[in-house]
Order: sequence, then C-alpha cells, then structure tokens
Amino acid sequence: KPVKKAKPTKGKAPAPVVEKEPPRRRRPRPIGRVREGAGRLAEPKARAPRRARAARRPVAAPRKKPVSIAFPVSIREFSSEIGIKVNLIIRRLLDQGTRKSMNDLVQEEEGLLLAKDLGVVVEVRKEVDLEEELLVGGEEDRPEDLAPRAPVVTLMGHVDHGKTSLLDRIRQSSITEGEHGGITQHIGAYRVQSNEHAIVFLDTPGHEAFTAMRARGAQATDLVVLVVAADDGVMPQTEEAISHARAAEVPMVVAVNKIDRPDANPTQVKQQLSALGLMPEEWGGKTIMVETSAITGDGLSNLLEMLVLEAELLELKANPSKPARGVVLEAKVTAGRGVVATILVREGTLSAGNVILCGESFGRVRRLTSERGEVLEEAGPSTPAEVTGLTGVPQAGDRMYVLGDIQKAKEIASGRERRRRLAVVAPRRHISLEDLNAQVEAGQRKELAVVVKADVQGSVEVVKEQLARIGTEEVRLEILHAAVGDVSEGDVLLADASDAVIIGFNVAVEPAVASEARRRGVQVRFYQVIYELTDEMRRALEGMLEPERREVALGAAEVRQLFQISRLGTIAGCSVTRGVIRRNARVRVRRDDEEVFGGTLDSLRRFKNDASEVAEGYECGIKLSGFNDLREGDVIEAYVIEEVARTL
Ligand code: GDP
Repeated sequence: KPVKKAKPTKGKAPAPVVEKEPPRRRRPRPIGRVREGAGRLAEPKARAPRRARAARRPVAAPRKKPVSIAFPVSIREFSSEIGIKVNLIIRRLLDQGTRKSMNDLVQEEEGLLLAKDLGVVVEVRKEVDLEEELLVGGEEDRPEDLAPRAPVVTLMGHVDHGKTSLLDRIRQSSITEGEHGGITQHIGAYRVQSNEHAIVFLDTPGHEAFTAMRARGAQATDLVVLVVAADDGVMPQTEEAISHARAAEVPMVVAVNKIDRPDANPTQVKQQLSALGLMPEEWGGKTIMVETSAITGDGLSNLLEMLVLEAELLELKANPSKPARGVVLEAKVTAGRGVVATILVREGTLSAGNVILCGESFGRVRRLTSERGEVLEEAGPSTPAEVTGLTGVPQAGDRMYVLGDIQKAKEIASGRERRRRLAVVAPRRHISLEDLNAQVEAGQRKELAVVVKADVQGSVEVVKEQLARIGTEEVRLEILHAAVGDVSEGDVLLADASDAVIIGFNVAVEPAVASEARRRGVQVRFYQVIYELTDEMRRALEGMLEPERREVALGAAEVRQLFQISRLGTIAGCSVTRGVIRRNARVRVRRDDEEVFGGTLDSLRRFKNDASEVAEGYECGIKLSGFNDLREGDVIEAYVIEEVARTL
C-alpha cells in the first residue's frame, strides 16, 4: 500500500503549488534528483510516469542532496525544485530587500545565494552549452569532402507578373511521362533537372516569404529569379524585390515574362532595370535576362540553363557525408501521418531513423518523401524532403539538426520551450538610433542600414541624397531600400532581416505594421522636415540622441472588493501588495497571469481622500480610466516610463 507522505501542514499554502499537486505516486521518487521539466540532463529512465511540469510537484521538504537547476527559473519552479515553500522564499527575498512574486524569475546569482541561505545545495545546469554545441557543429569540412550541390532558387516580382505560373510550368515540364502519374504535391519546394544539373525551386514565391525566412536566420535561397512582366514593366514590388535580394546579397537572374503578349515591350523593361542598376549582359552589364512566357513555355529551358550557369559561378558546395543540417520550409499536422514537415537539407545527409531537432520539436525521422510522393532513403544537400516523426509542429524557418540521441534532442527542445514560456528570450532588439554610436565606438558596427519610405518620389530622392552625405569615417549609412509609400510589413521584415532602422518621411504606418515592428524590435522613425531627419541622423552618429525611455515597475495592488457606483463606474477596493501605486502611474491589469487591460488611473483614493500615492500594506480605492470590468483577485500593476541613459 502506498504510504501517504506527510503533507506540509500548518497554515494554508499561499500558492497553487500544493493545491495543484498531482495524485500521489505509488513510489516516492528519490529526493534531490534533477527531474522532469525543461532541460533535464540524461537521467536514467524515470520510474514513475513523467509529469509535465516541475511546478506541479508538491513541495515536500528541503532537498538534502544537491539540486541542479537551469536558471533563470520562476520562484514557483525554484520552490518545487529545492523543496521550500514559495512564501518562505518570498519572505526570505524580502528580508534581503527584494520584492518578488511567485511568477517572477530568479537569476543564477540570486538563486545560489538564496539556496545557500535556505540550506539547499544548488548546482547550475547550463542549457546554453547544448545550444552552443549545436551552433558550432563539429569540425570544419575538409575541401576534399565537399561536393557540388544544386542551387536553391526563389522567384520574386510584382504581383501578377507570373511567378506562380512560371513555377507551375517549370514543375510540369520537369515531370517526364510515366512518373507516378505525373502528380506532384505542394510541399514547399521541388527539384527539377536541366540537362545534367538539378535546380531546387522554393514554392512560396515573393520577397515577403524570402525575407521572413531570412529574418529567422535561415537564408535558404542561393539565387533569385526576378520576374518582370514585359507588358507592365518595373512596378513597386519589383523594386522591393530587388532591394530584398540585394540586402540578402543573393544574385538575381531576370525573367522578362509574358513575352507572348502583343503589348510586350522587353526593351523597355531592360531599360527600366538598367536604371535600377541591373544592366543586361547584352548591353555590357552583368545581369542575365531571359525572355520567357509561362503560357507558351518559351524561354523556360533557357532560363533553367542560365540558372545553372549562374549557380556554377557561385561554386555551391556542401559536405554530404556528415549528419544533416537544414531548414524547415513548411510544417503541418495531417490526419493520417501526424506532423509532416518539409525540410530542405543544406549540408550532410538526412536518413530515415535520424534523430532531428527543429525549433521546439524533435523526433526520429520515420519516413522521407519527395514532392512526387516517392519514399527517399536519404536526402543529401539541396534536397527538399517531407519528413514524418516529429513530436510537434516546427515553424517555417526553424533550423533542423541531426543529433546523436533522442534524449539530448528532447532536452534542447524542452529547454527552448521553457525559456520561451518564461519569456527569458527577450524579443530580439535591432539597432536603434540611440544605440548606434555606442556600438560604433565599441567596434561592433561599421554601418547603419536604413529603409526609407517617403510620400513622393521627389522626397525619396532628397532623403537619399541627404543621407549619402551623412556617413562618417567610422560608420557608413547604407540605404537598403528607398521607395514611395507608407511603411509596410515588407519594410519591417527587411529591417528585421538586415538589422536596419526604418525612416518614414511624411508617411504613416498602419497600426498592425507598427505593432509588428515593435514585436520584431525594429525601430521606425518619422520625420516631416528634411532638416530634422538629417540633424537627428547626424546626432545619432555622434551619440548625442536623447536617451531612450524604459518601463520601471512601481508596485502592485490586488483587487479585494468591487463597488459599482452608478455615476462613476467600478471602484475597486484594493490592497497594495508591493511597492507603491501612484495616481499618475501607468497600469496594467493581470488576471491569472493574463494581461487584460493596460492604461491609466482615473482616481486613487485613501478613505475618502484623493491620494497621490499609496504604499505597500495599505488599502486604497482605484478607478481605472476606461475599464470597468475588474474582478476580485485581479492584480493592478503600476509602472512609469522613465527616460534612462544608455547602458552600453
Ligand atoms: P504572380 O502573382 O506573379 O504569381 O502571377 P500569376 O502567375 O498568378 O499570373 C498572373 C496572371 O498572368 C495569370 O492570369 C496568368 O495566367 C498570367 N500570366 C502569367 N504568365 C504569363 C505569360 O507568360 N503570358 C501571359 N500571356 N500571361 C501570363
């Protein structure tokens, strides 16, 4: 019979740590072991069924044996790892002058001190080591191990200029009769032969997809086919595509398409492109231009030949005889096959049975199939393959690694998941004008890339001209893209992928685009007067910009009681649980850890009087501005936005 473990008695536990505990296990597990949850090190087979989260375990007793923890952890998790109740930890922290709540993070240094204080030995477990191992990835390839690989091509161009039609036509022409009924599936990429040479086409055309991948750090494309309709000529998205390809330093081959149209004017297209710096070879330039028709098929084999030629110049090579690395192009869950992901192998060779890791998912490759549904035994460099056997759905752009054992893959995957959950992975922040000078002085940066959007072509030219004069000896200004129009999502992607700042001159940005920029950590600056722009840029280079603004937490209050007052709305009777609440502070409301409102206070009262500030331990009445849906138990967090000096 299972022995009932002594429950921590006295006093109600303050937190769900105890309440949510799972049913008692049959055999108590050894104490002081590294256990489930993220990043556990190779532990021998667990005897009891694994539970999803460390946090759900009961807090029994201080662990007697050393505990290994990967910092940072939430106080809640820390508590269950070391076997000491949350409120005790929080109180101990308070004694030391730090105010934290259950979901706050404990950093390494603090955690070690705290553990020592509480009489538990904690060892630091490094998760990053494993990640680093992945990044470095073994020895460098010896030249004799390198073999030529097929180029990977993306089609870009203005909408309706024929990208999809060209892709389809090329794909169809590549299917010889009798081949599996000639049906190919859309898996995200396909391979075609041109004479003896293979070419891989990525199936999602357009510069957005191209740059989105790049922003995730997974540039898969070797060559871009810029599609320009001969009857329409260079259009805004043609120019965008050129900028995106250039920013990625990927060479372009031009397909002057729709050559079958009676109003086709290929010469004019070539002139327009020449003006943008893409001069055709026939005119003494360096850009290969092929006239094509996706309807008649004219010029397609020529296009493929030219791609092979251009690829040969790039001398694309990879080592096929090592564990594979690649990138996820697509992923989905299917009814019959579970998670199906298309992986483009970049180097090495992927085989069935390999253990792979993609983002937060991992697994053993069950089956590899081509876009024609053929089962592949293996997939070498520049081969796209559909893969089954992953535990979760990775994201397009995730890198794929083959690992030695599944335990390690699992550990890294769950470490990533956990860090994301704890929001330890701060959103990537790109260069800002405020940070520029510091980075230049630290020798970390020699150029500032910018994307320029302006109201009319004349302004675009003026801004370009002015910016060209601003660079200093230490830092060069590089204009990645300059065009007419509002700041678009494509601009944000480009700035994200190239670590650039966006400059808007007399233009606007849609809220959705603005929040996308914020999410990606891309700075967008707006100007109305050219002088302001140049002045600010100059000052940025000199490190003279005003400091940035940051959020500083003030305190929090818990809603204890609600009063509906017809004239006023909802007044919340609160108790300040930490710090202070200020009348003029900004606030956010959290309910079960979810942020349900962000805004300001309408009033702050102590008894019947208005108060400018209420401190910890006191009761107060709060009315929020524009939010009457408060509930008991909500936590109102107060903060201010302060200007702080640069830290670098
Ligand atoms: P995308 O937006 O660039 O992918 O363009 P689509 O491939 O969807 O093509 C847009 C339209 O142009 C469709 O109606 C196509 O049939 C047509 N189209 C594409 N290529 C050609 C071509 O070479 N000649 C002619 N006449 N029409 C074409």
